[in-house]
Amino acid sequence: MSANAVNLGADASIASAGPTASVGLTPSARPVLANAPATPARPNLLGLSIDELGAFVASIGQRPYRARQLVQWMHRRHVLDFDGMTDLSKGLRDELKSLADLAAPEVIREERSDDGTIKWLLDVGRGQAVETVMIPEPRRTTLCISSQAGCALDCAFCATGQQGFNRNLTAAEILGQVAHASRALAPDTISNIVFMGMGEPLANYRNVITVIGLLLDDQAYGLSRRRVTVSTAGLVPQIRKLAEDCNVALAVSLHAPTDELRNELVPINRRHPIDELLAACWDYAEVLASRQVSFEYTLLDGVNDSQAEAKALIKLLRGRPAKLNLIPFNSFPGSPFRCSSQPAMDAFWQTLNAAGIVTTFRRPRGDDIAAACGQLAGRVEDRRRVRLSDKLGVRRT
Ligand code: SAH
Repeated sequence: MSANAVNLGADASIASAGPTASVGLTPSARPVLANAPATPARPNLLGLSIDELGAFVASIGQRPYRARQLVQWMHRRHVLDFDGMTDLSKGLRDELKSLADLAAPEVIREERSDDGTIKWLLDVGRGQAVETVMIPEPRRTTLCISSQAGCALDCAFCATGQQGFNRNLTAAEILGQVAHASRALAPDTISNIVFMGMGEPLANYRNVITVIGLLLDDQAYGLSRRRVTVSTAGLVPQIRKLAEDCNVALAVSLHAPTDELRNELVPINRRHPIDELLAACWDYAEVLASRQVSFEYTLLDGVNDSQAEAKALIKLLRGRPAKLNLIPFNSFPGSPFRCSSQPAMDAFWQTLNAAGIVTTFRRPRGDDIAAACGQLAGRVEDRRRVRLSDKLGVRRT
């Protein structure tokens, strides 16, 4: 099979990832909405964009301000139950209940780390569960959300990748993570959202864009673009599309400075090699208006942490709108990798820093509850066993 034919998930193709069109709904013809499951009986209002919700409200003969009320209840007060929407008449609440759902994934488990990090396991049905992590810091509270059950990209050192891919999450399932965390943290609020949980967000493009729209919209979450970060292993066409659709912060999982090594660690590199990826990043940086693209680099002992690799990385990033985020490898059961030694990590940082590359370390958070980068496993029944490296014929050690 050619590499181009590899399926990364239901919505990996940007051909199907255009803006979610507003839909003409009539009460008699039940809606077929962009974010609903394949054979939707009823829409889940939680996952509708502002436009889609407006169309839904119009379709049941209600005035536009009703859509604004619903947005307020769902995305500002996080009330996920029509009966809790006390400024809607009983008649309207009953009508909404008969026509639509308002459903977020249920929390199955909550774990709290000694460092204040909280991890939630959420049930997304049919035996699948995904994880969401809240990371408190002195001046911000970050929520790390999942976009897929499992992941097809099969990065060699990632726990999620080892499970294979099950399915894309719907927009409601992604937003449900934010709604749940918001309720749990109230009166504190989430200041930053990162798509760094389970899955490859750009392989679930359409639903992720709907979610981002609501995160940024002042009627809903009202976060600034700087506070929403999409992290990708390097789906180049979708990076280019994202630049057109919404210029949120971009993080790119680089992890190796040469194609030879990156092909092994991040198999999507076989389809979109480093040159092509970086060209898309520099173009993306132009729409970021003086912000930089972040590059993630997980330090693996004896694999990508030598001085030669640090120098090769400098060649790629020097003089570019780039910052580098070094991540100590977080181990998980069955992984053949080890975290780099402290002297190797220090030397790597020194070399990059001395060359003028803005380089930071990501402190592992919540590793006592397996909530750190790359440790999220959730529960994925890997029925399809879709793994990119199998399709691309990548050699595994
Ligand atoms: N699919 C997205 C989100 C992945 S998670 C992406 O690839 O960017 C966020 C970051 O954690 C990625 O850079 C990922 O490569 C990194 N990561 C994965 N497993 C890790 C591990 N075990 N230790 C440290 N970082 C890891």
